[in-house]
Amino acid sequence: MRHGPGRGGNKVRSNRGELIHKIFNRLLDEFGPQGWWPAETPFEVIVGAILTQNTAWKNVKQCIKTLREGGYLTVEAMRQLPVSDLAVLVRPSGYYNQKARKLRVFCDHVETEWQGDLEGFLSQEMEPLRRELLTIHGIGPETADSIVLYAAEKPSFVVDTYTYRIFSRHNWVMEGSSYNELREYFMDVLEPDVGFFKELHGLLVRTGHLYCRRKPLCESCPLQGWAGDD
Ligand code: SF4
Repeated sequence: MRHGPGRGGNKVRSNRGELIHKIFNRLLDEFGPQGWWPAETPFEVIVGAILTQNTAWKNVKQCIKTLREGGYLTVEAMRQLPVSDLAVLVRPSGYYNQKARKLRVFCDHVETEWQGDLEGFLSQEMEPLRRELLTIHGIGPETADSIVLYAAEKPSFVVDTYTYRIFSRHNWVMEGSSYNELREYFMDVLEPDVGFFKELHGLLVRTGHLYCRRKPLCESCPLQGWAGDD
């Protein structure tokens, strides 16, 4: 699924769109499709998005497996669990008391505001959904955008630490850019394409995880020495 720029506009915007598509194609050639986010249901995406805050995905996988085996991966089933029991089940993800409370708050919100209808909640238009998510305790912009993109399948680009690192280390974005500035950097020039947003995020996560670490491994990275104009 190679991809080319869509939206036109002024030269700066069009150059930026081209750069992002070149990065995408370079990483796709290197890694192939990522199929991110790995989850069986929208609720599983949501649980994963909350549990992955400040921890590696491998720790989250373990929790999801435990929750799935226990039959707790529905809003209703999770609300039946005392928060202290839920905390034990999500312990491998770290900050487990906080995360158990966040999960409960999310489930209570869907129950109270949407009578437990998760599908209805996720079926809203993108902007009202994103705004509502951001009112829920424990859901910041990255978690909200992950839920909008991967659980609700609506085109909100997800920015994470890796995205910031990769783009700021190459001076494609300014150091110290805020989450919203980074999100706009992408959203302003890209066609709203759910499949492309998912895959681009997955490829950036892969690049960051393998190469663009705190101590970068530039020598072997596919973006090494590249300013995006070759
Ligand atoms: S590891 Fe180096 S080459 Fe790769 S994205 Fe990070 S800064 Fe760029």
